[in-house]
Amino acid sequence: MSAGASIASGLGLLAAFALFGGIFTRRARLLVRLIRMGRPSGIERADDVPDRLRQEAVVVLGQRKLFQKLVPGLMHAFIFWGFMVLLPTIVIAMIGIVDRDSTLPWLGHQGWFALLVDVFVVLVLVGVAIALYIRKVVKPNRFEGSHLGEADLILAWITGIVTTLLLWHAARIALGLNEYDAGWAPLANALSGIFGDGDVTEALERVLVWAHLLLILGFLAYLPHSKHLHIFTAAVNVYFARTRARGRLEPLRFDEDVPEEEMRFGIGTVEDLTWKQMVDSMSCTECGRCQEVCPAWATGKTLSPKLVIMGVRDHLFAEGPLALAARESGEAYDGPPVAATDDLEAMAWDCVTCGACVRECPVNIEHVDHILDLRRHLVMVESRFPSEAEPMLRDVERQSNPWGNPQAERAAWADGLGVRVLQPGEPAPEVLYWVGCAASFDERARTSAQSTAKLLQAAGVDFAILGPREACNGDPARRMGNEYVFQAYAQQNVETLDDAGVRKIVASCPHCFNTLANEYPDFGGNYEVVHHTEMLAELVREGRLAPAATEQTITYHDSCYLARHNDVLDQPRELAAAVGRPIEMERSGKRTFCCGAGGAHMWMEERAKPINEERVREAAATGAETLAVACPFCTVMLDDGVQSTGADMRVADVATLLAEAVEASTADASANGRPRPAAQPPDDGEAER
Ligand code: SF4
Ligand code: SF4
Repeated sequence: MSAGASIASGLGLLAAFALFGGIFTRRARLLVRLIRMGRPSGIERADDVPDRLRQEAVVVLGQRKLFQKLVPGLMHAFIFWGFMVLLPTIVIAMIGIVDRDSTLPWLGHQGWFALLVDVFVVLVLVGVAIALYIRKVVKPNRFEGSHLGEADLILAWITGIVTTLLLWHAARIALGLNEYDAGWAPLANALSGIFGDGDVTEALERVLVWAHLLLILGFLAYLPHSKHLHIFTAAVNVYFARTRARGRLEPLRFDEDVPEEEMRFGIGTVEDLTWKQMVDSMSCTECGRCQEVCPAWATGKTLSPKLVIMGVRDHLFAEGPLALAARESGEAYDGPPVAATDDLEAMAWDCVTCGACVRECPVNIEHVDHILDLRRHLVMVESRFPSEAEPMLRDVERQSNPWGNPQAERAAWADGLGVRVLQPGEPAPEVLYWVGCAASFDERARTSAQSTAKLLQAAGVDFAILGPREACNGDPARRMGNEYVFQAYAQQNVETLDDAGVRKIVASCPHCFNTLANEYPDFGGNYEVVHHTEMLAELVREGRLAPAATEQTITYHDSCYLARHNDVLDQPRELAAAVGRPIEMERSGKRTFCCGAGGAHMWMEERAKPINEERVREAAATGAETLAVACPFCTVMLDDGVQSTGADMRVADVATLLAEAVEASTADASANGRPRPAAQPPDDGEAER
């Protein structure tokens, strides 16, 4: 290649860089300015570096979440890994443009690298073919609402990039320009046969390398303007995703030392978005995996977590630049509320905060934080919420429980059981049993509290309840969006627990469990909190409870706040296995399907199909006789579902099943003259009820 041609090519390359780099930089600058405008996320996101690096390795490089669906996972992995491997070829192409006879030192001379390029070009093309097949033939519902035209353009672009690369390599082999044995690149070598070795091939070699590079530069410039922006932001989003306490909500700060202008009441306008919420929205690939697992979407509600994130992104890109401009000119930004975009307000009320979307999302987007922040603003600033939730909020505020029952009746479930009610000034028990409002006041849920108390007594555990001093933990108000009420209860309950000298708590309700374990530390309440299934499983393992197994078939329903938000999966199953023959439902463990009560939906009207009926039908399909639960809300919702669907199943808490099995074993042992298998109930009558 002549010196003149090299100089001309170099100048051409610089011009291309200037053009595409300029387009890219302009957009990237806007994105960075938007993110810098974002509010603090409220959650520590720079800690746990080893965990964060592990997430990068597993979720980004290993594509683990994408492999939850094998074929689409392979499709994405082929394209992603292909581009990782092909990255150095961009530099090789640039060198080749300036000087056809040169290449990247060392790597450009390696036969094995030529082989890798050959292999990964094919894998990328296979990935593109699978993607087209999924989109054009299979057409899964999860793509409903996604920008599919844009996705097709991207696929065409990727095809162009790898095809020009392959043909360029073939032309170089035809011209004898390859720096390695042509046998290392079997596909390019085979294709080299379509080229001659004359001037036309020399010209085609130039056309191909330029086409390849211009396609790449154009692609890079286009990406930040498209939904494929996630190529730049996904790794960042995964790195800063939560590493702990997935069920915890960021507390809003109302303390006096927070300047008024820094107070935040959820998401009102674009200026209220946190930087993490902005990066979340920029990272959405529109894959629809969140939508596919969302119980609200599955039952015909307005809500799709994908559309929520896309709505936030649309709003951010429409209003963000205006807010930035207003700030720069020193004016106050007075734009429309985020909730007014694309039905976001209606969607926010459909959410049961089950977290299925968050778990499924391949780029670790935290949808629940967006939805709860939308609710917070609607409730606390605009006083707008579904009217049927009003009595619940009022009862929580006035009566300390969402059932509206007098606090004096809180321990009525324990009448005659000999349960100690901890009085002020008394020594703290080894374990405080936090009963929760549902098990205290709802007839069906009470059975689980009674069973738990009997089992703790039978195992000789030193426990007590707070009785009327236990108040609502605040979760229903918080998940509804009323942070004021939640924080008032958090402070009150922490004070009560601390005054009582409580160290260890066992909770029956997964919502109480999540709040006490993950959210009360934000208010100074630090306790060892276990769920009743964890404690009961331990007592069975230690031989302090000896259930008699039966032949009953049991399918266990994982509560979202136990399994998905808090990783309690094995212990309830251990208990189910100890008392009967377990059968798993199709959606179980961390991929469980909500009962429909979370996110304060216990007190809201269901629009469209009921979620609890959908879940009961799935449970009934297993053929199990018993539908076991470990949550009082699930008990009520699924029992309602059994009644409305006519399913032939009994709904019971695993504690109740265990208590029955322990009683059966005890009766059996007595009948056979054997000693009781478990320890005797505690003998401390004085403070007992
Ligand atoms: S938390 Fe559950 S209900 Fe809410 S958007 Fe996500 S999947 Fe849907
Ligand atoms: S939020 Fe996550 S799961 Fe949902 S569409 Fe976007 S990338 Fe996919």
